[in-house]
Amino acid sequence: MPRTTHIERHRSERIGWLRAAVLGANDGIVSTASLIVGVAAAETSRSNVLVAGVAGLVAGAMSMAAGEYVSVSSQADTENADLARERSELATDPAFELDELQGIYEQRGLDAALARQVAEQLTARDALGAHARDELGISAVHAARPVQAALASATTFAVGAALPVLMTAIVPVTRVIAIVASASLVFLALLGGVAARAGGASMTRGAVRVTFWGAFALALTALIGRVFGATV
Ligand SMILES: [Zn+2]
Repeated sequence: MPRTTHIERHRSERIGWLRAAVLGANDGIVSTASLIVGVAAAETSRSNVLVAGVAGLVAGAMSMAAGEYVSVSSQADTENADLARERSELATDPAFELDELQGIYEQRGLDAALARQVAEQLTARDALGAHARDELGISAVHAARPVQAALASATTFAVGAALPVLMTAIVPVTRVIAIVASASLVFLALLGGVAARAGGASMTRGAVRVTFWGAFALALTALIGRVFGATV
């Protein structure tokens, strides 16, 4: 029977970036909508609310990018340091490294002879690649990419934050709190449901979880805005 090739996309591959995208967008909606509702609760002009919203969008996107860049860069630094150490160990003690690789394959269930054969062939082909993948768990597919991670994080935050900002630009200033809050909760519920579904979990539970925290954040900032608006 001729072997048929088929594209197999594992849920875990898709989950990784989808979850990051949804979390970024969630952050954007919750923090920017809360900021807008809080400033609007202080009863100020539309231009002030809009300026606060846009400033929140930019500041949030930049801080997400910076945070992601720093954390993924330190992951990249750790990976590079591990690879450099592995490279020098392979150069100084190749026999030990070959035994180590054989041991890894035996632990995974291969018998000694087959494990030795696999270790020898993979070492001959690409020793560092074999140790990186099977000993350190570093693979080219999941290698740390700080710039991509920062850009993805800032973009998803900005997309999420743009929703309440656009709402603020088009609705009457007296309705900003009600409309931005309710529309943001609808967006959050949708995102929460999509993320849960993509992860194979219950959509309802995913939607309720993120909507609860969104509503809590909006209520708290509206209250603080009201108090500040009344006292300042
Ligand atoms: Zn090794």
